[in-house]
Amino acid sequence: MALDLILRNARLADEAGAFDIGIAAGRIAAIEPHIAAEAREERLESRLVVPGFVESHIHLDKSCILDRCSPEHRNLQHAIKEVAAAKCAFTHEDICSRSQRTLEKAIAHGTMYMRAHTEVDPRVGLRAFEAMQRLQHDYAWGIDLEICVFPQEGLINDPGAEELLIAACERGADLIGGCPYTDSDPHEQMARIFAIARRFDLDIDFHLDFDLDPSWMHVDEVCRQTDEHRYGGRVTVGHATKLSMLRSQDLADAARRLADAGVAVTVLPATDLFLLGREHASGAPRAVAPAHRLVEHGVACAIATNNVLNPFTPFGDCSLLRMANLYANIAQIGGASELAACFDMITTLPAKMMNLTDYGIAVGKPADLLVLDCNDRSAAIAEIATPLFGIKRGRRSFERSAPRLIPPCSEKI
Ligand SMILES: [Zn+2]
Repeated sequence: MALDLILRNARLADEAGAFDIGIAAGRIAAIEPHIAAEAREERLESRLVVPGFVESHIHLDKSCILDRCSPEHRNLQHAIKEVAAAKCAFTHEDICSRSQRTLEKAIAHGTMYMRAHTEVDPRVGLRAFEAMQRLQHDYAWGIDLEICVFPQEGLINDPGAEELLIAACERGADLIGGCPYTDSDPHEQMARIFAIARRFDLDIDFHLDFDLDPSWMHVDEVCRQTDEHRYGGRVTVGHATKLSMLRSQDLADAARRLADAGVAVTVLPATDLFLLGREHASGAPRAVAPAHRLVEHGVACAIATNNVLNPFTPFGDCSLLRMANLYANIAQIGGASELAACFDMITTLPAKMMNLTDYGIAVGKPADLLVLDCNDRSAAIAEIATPLFGIKRGRRSFERSAPRLIPPCSEKI
């Protein structure tokens, strides 16, 4: 067997024992307990090999703008207002350079697939969309970038936004999103987004139900329209923080409704924790939808980053492992199988949500592999294991050195 690279003594997520993984022509050519072939080798010493992380929800275009925004009065309305004002001045080069900084951090933390939610409206025109197309091309060596265009400021109430969305779809947007809570007619916005999606045969990803009032939900209408258009398996909602306020039986009912409609859910712990519940002087709710419980009912759920260094979230290192650890911590999850389920929410489940048919570790699939400094999925989440290196289509795409202690007896100055 002619191989380009052999990863020796690797652990795999669902398999006992260790395996060698043979790579040839950018694809996985063999997975066996011992591959008897000559090729360049990496000895992994029982470290975990997983497919690259999947970031299903991030805003590259408005990342890294804290220095342009007021730090006062941080809440959702303030964040939307600040960014709406700032984006009028976004240029192509400016968006590219900030997005590039964020994208490179994500690649260096093991992310190999990404859905970039990208604002298209009369303030920013198609500049953010065009910047994402440039990055999609320039960084194809390290990441598969999917562009989701959406109207952050609304659609019905924002003349010109719909024409720009359609123009982006004509020019190759990968999917379309919505933000019904910012619109004067949320249900009509959903209907128009579904109409555009069907016209261009695109999947849909809505920002939705981003508050803590469980007495009504836009997701009910999304499920209804998904059924009406037979769009099951092609629709995702992000945030859905209202779900965090439901009683157990109501949550189970909502989960079954989502699963039946084929609507997926992405939770965004950093933003949800930072912006919501501020009206509580003490005892603020955790405000993050219990995704692991939705998964138990068959909903495809993901944990994602959302915002980085902007008024929505003034934090961010683009590490999905850190985000999954944050989720597990606030969801009070600690058992090995539950932590492994959290790992699936940054790998296999968002891959299902994004319909990545070539995702996973199996002979014949693209060699998109990540080596973590741990032995299993639960340890990866609990310890926020270091991603040591990544391989994208058979080529090394990033590496990080493991830390090394230097006790006095070995000191060399
Ligand atoms: Zn978002």
